Amino acid sequence: MRQSQLFTKTRREAPKEEVSTNAKLLIRAGYINKEMAGVYSFLPLGLRVRDKIAGIIREEMNSVGGVELEMTALQNQELYEKTGRWSDDVVDNWFKTKLKSGTELGLGFTHEEMITEMLKNHISSYKDLPVYAYQIQTKFRNEERAKSGLMRGREFLMKDLYSFNDNQESLDDFYDQMKGAYERIFERVGLGDLTYITYASGGTFSKYSHEYQTLSEAGEDTIYVSEEKKLAINKEVLTEETLSELGVKKEDLVEKKAIEVGNIFKLGTKFSSALGLIYTDEQGEKQPVVMGSYGIGLGRLMGTVAEVLSDDKGLIWPKSIAPFTLHIVSLGIKDSEAYKVAEELYKHCGEKGLEVFFDDRDIAAGEKFADADLLGMPYRVVVSDKTLKEGKFELKERKSGEVKMVNLSELLAIVK
Ligand code: ATP
Ligand code: MG
Repeated sequence: MRQSQLFTKTRREAPKEEVSTNAKLLIRAGYINKEMAGVYSFLPLGLRVRDKIAGIIREEMNSVGGVELEMTALQNQELYEKTGRWSDDVVDNWFKTKLKSGTELGLGFTHEEMITEMLKNHISSYKDLPVYAYQIQTKFRNEERAKSGLMRGREFLMKDLYSFNDNQESLDDFYDQMKGAYERIFERVGLGDLTYITYASGGTFSKYSHEYQTLSEAGEDTIYVSEEKKLAINKEVLTEETLSELGVKKEDLVEKKAIEVGNIFKLGTKFSSALGLIYTDEQGEKQPVVMGSYGIGLGRLMGTVAEVLSDDKGLIWPKSIAPFTLHIVSLGIKDSEAYKVAEELYKHCGEKGLEVFFDDRDIAAGEKFADADLLGMPYRVVVSDKTLKEGKFELKERKSGEVKMVNLSELLAIVK
């Protein structure tokens, strides 16, 4: 993409009311636009990042047998009455609306009820199990505080997978496979080193659920990290009993602030019993299906990367989710030699399958450099009269700041 085609402008200052680092940087860089508190549009560069995150999540969900579908945002009151989750006293972040007839509807904050009801049309025998279905869909939550940018939105994209098994053992087995998939996702988006599987409260059907918590001062959660075991315990379940079950000592744990980027839950038969998702087992007995649910917030994940991998100059995207891998900055005006070489390089890299962003604008060099740092592509290459004289390109790695003079084949080898 040519930068001159992009309508978004970078800004020196973020809106005054934005307090979080992720919102400030992403707005300044033109990745997102704030529509109102907790509601953000994804602009072209931001959408590219979120799509890449979605791509990684999709690959990992498919790798454990997930199949993708898409359910609706409009949801039925009756279903939620059956599980006791319609009342605003029980669920305090509902957005609700009405049909012209007066019938109330909910805007989905989650989809357990809907998918359980839907699968009654498709599951009747043990032969129909297991089912692992997921979607990447917008959720609506009337969050009380929405001051953390993408971290806590009122409208946000979530990947939610629901597992349907014939018994507890096969759920447990799948649950462990999902732990592997989650680890790979956080590793691939660049948060592996900072993200800990965290024991949290489990609800009715299992003692613990697991959260994936990324260390950050911007986080809302307090967790206790065991570096040695590469796990953490959420403050809410930090008891003598939990410590002894996990074989850790309180004095070996370090208290940290963290962002919950994902979580996984064993739901047991809570929803299948309430809604009547029943199958016939091999002995001909009727049994409720055993369920689990597995969420990741894509916006929150993107906000977390912006939060923890940035510096005072701007964003620093890992290659895996950067909008473009290479940012070519031409320091010549149109039709100059430097511009022509930069354009040739842009076309050549594109043909080699690289994702390239070409700063072809006719503005001051300093402004181009500041923008490149703010936008945060992993590599920046400068083409100027000076680099032409040397017969090389000036390549800078955003993360380390390391600058090298390279020829074309060296450049391709490094950036690929
Ligand atoms: P939290 O504890 O942060 O309120 P939650 O436990 O309610 O989140 P789930 O309902 O399990 O979260 O949602 C799954 C994932 O969706 C979370 O792990 C998080 O990554 C993301 N998520 C939840 N709420 C929001 C939100 N308001 N904005 C953005 N992402 C969210
Ligand atoms: Mg939570």
